[in-house]
Amino acid sequence: MPETRKDRAVPPRQAAARALVVLSGPSGVGKTTVCREVVKRLGLAESTSATTRKIRPGETDGADYYFLSREEFERRIAAGQFVEWAEVFGQLYGTPVEEVERARADGRTLLLEIDVQGGIQIKRKFPEAMAILLLPPEPQALRARLSRRGTEAPEEAERRFAKATEEVATARAAGCYDAEVVNDDLGAAINQVVSIIETRRKRND
Ligand code: 5GP
Repeated sequence: MPETRKDRAVPPRQAAARALVVLSGPSGVGKTTVCREVVKRLGLAESTSATTRKIRPGETDGADYYFLSREEFERRIAAGQFVEWAEVFGQLYGTPVEEVERARADGRTLLLEIDVQGGIQIKRKFPEAMAILLLPPEPQALRARLSRRGTEAPEEAERRFAKATEEVATARAAGCYDAEVVNDDLGAAINQVVSIIETRRKRND
């Protein structure tokens, strides 16, 4: 097929990156809920990460995560099978290369719900990716939400709370995040994320 002007103007790597949206934020900030709604409203593809952490009740292997042994995860790191990976709360998490390739082949925008370390790696590899940081309204609200969620032991919830402050500081220091959204009202936060992604898409068209 003859190359068009548009093909020439956008190198393939950049074209793929424009279709990547990263959403990060401290644990318990409401990332999963916001992602679910944004994916529905904009028809985005959602990346399924791999992890070494234990499966939680209600989660499905292959849908929520690909649950792997540490050995298998490390083998895949060595084989270059992750676009990014990071150790979070003592467990490994990573975005499989195939997730990005599948979305690219389907011509879909891919949403990555990953931690700040991963978001920074994505932005360094794909500077055109859109990275959004979701923030809690104020620290106490986050602490309350984490303990209410009850998916972790109290010490684990406390550990996640301590990590939250550090994660926001890391994201800001790296200067890799394109936008910050405060989740004090869920509907408003979702609208804001939707509008940020739509604005970026229009600019790229
Ligand atoms: P959880 O164990 O609560 O599902 O996730 C813990 C943290 O790991 C969250 O901040 C989540 O965004 C992050 N996470 C999930 N998948 C990935 C991934 O593929 N890469 C990175 N870097 N972080 C991830």
